Amino acid sequence: MARIDLVDLAHSYKPNRAEPQDYALQPMNIRWDDGGAYALLGPSGCGKTTLLNIISGLVRPSQGRVLFDGRDVTDLPPETRNIAQVFQFPVIYDTMSVFDNLAFPLRNRGWKEAEIRKRVEQVANMLELSGELKYRASGLPADAKQKISLGRGLVRPDVAAVLFDEPLTVIDPHLKWLLRRKLKEIHHELKLSLLYVTHDQVEALTFADKVVVMTSGEVVQVGTAQELFEAPAHTFVGYFIGNPGMNLLPCTVQDGMARIAGAAPIALSLEAKAALTGAGGKLTLGIRPEFVECLASQQADAVEAAVLALRDLGVYQLGEFRIGSQTVVAKIRSPVQAAAGAPAWLRFPPERTLYYLNDQRVA
Ligand code: ADP
Ligand code: MG
Repeated sequence: MARIDLVDLAHSYKPNRAEPQDYALQPMNIRWDDGGAYALLGPSGCGKTTLLNIISGLVRPSQGRVLFDGRDVTDLPPETRNIAQVFQFPVIYDTMSVFDNLAFPLRNRGWKEAEIRKRVEQVANMLELSGELKYRASGLPADAKQKISLGRGLVRPDVAAVLFDEPLTVIDPHLKWLLRRKLKEIHHELKLSLLYVTHDQVEALTFADKVVVMTSGEVVQVGTAQELFEAPAHTFVGYFIGNPGMNLLPCTVQDGMARIAGAAPIALSLEAKAALTGAGGKLTLGIRPEFVECLASQQADAVEAAVLALRDLGVYQLGEFRIGSQTVVAKIRSPVQAAAGAPAWLRFPPERTLYYLNDQRVA
């Protein structure tokens, strides 16, 4: 297993590149520590597969270096990198038994049969494939085949890392939930470095200790679930993580207060005041729906809002409000302090209200 460093890495599929948009990956520096469980999360087309293929060696980066434990592997072919990769769709030998499929990577490395049997049984057991070991892979349903692919990825204990590229795409939702948890347990048990690519935030957050969030070829934050939730470093993280995502409201700062057009000024934390006074650029106020407080009567530090809709979701009410021309969403815990058609007052607690200058968090 290895620590993986990407140093000044960038990639373009185009022969002539001039603009940043010609690049599938913008310049980045990332370190993945040995033994970690990481997720790479971002919408379709943001460059996740490209990044994974650069690590495995299927794609050579147009710029920068890939290091495994400090050793430069950028120019090495995939088969010498000691990486296991699991793809979106099953890659297995249909004519072989499940056992032989799982044993294949070990036989290739010259393992002894007794050792192979032990390891294959261990991995099959973890993936709940023990009952299927003697069957031919061709007769099995798609999700069992994908479990074989996962098993083939996990069977070698000596790999630098196991890379998963949206491996649960073909799996039905219930089994998906189980497998995600299974992979996390397997990570603990086998102590492999795992890098898991997905566009699904729930998948990323349940699987990984650390999530790398990407958009448009750029890594915008690396953090734990809590860090991504409480302190998004970029407006994209605020918007993409959470359900619904963070409220992002264009604002200005005047006289030490934030102003959303058409609303009363909002007090800034000391930190925000220091960071924003005199700052130029596109300024955005960000607050998660979970942290917006809804009050039934006017208070000095609350902003008047029109109630557009309230939906009762059992544990909370999802409220939709309008301030000036902006829509604000709030998760309101009981007792309900608002009614559709009536005014309400929203409070943005300063310690939960973040500010973004040109999409980067400043406070
Ligand atoms: P993701 O896995 O996040 O969906 P990809 O890494 O597959 O994203 O793609 C990133 C960008 O690079 C996309 O704009 C895609 O169209 C482009 N791309 C991917 N593979 C190739 C390729 N082989 N040749 C040219 N462009 C590609
Ligand atoms: Mg992809």
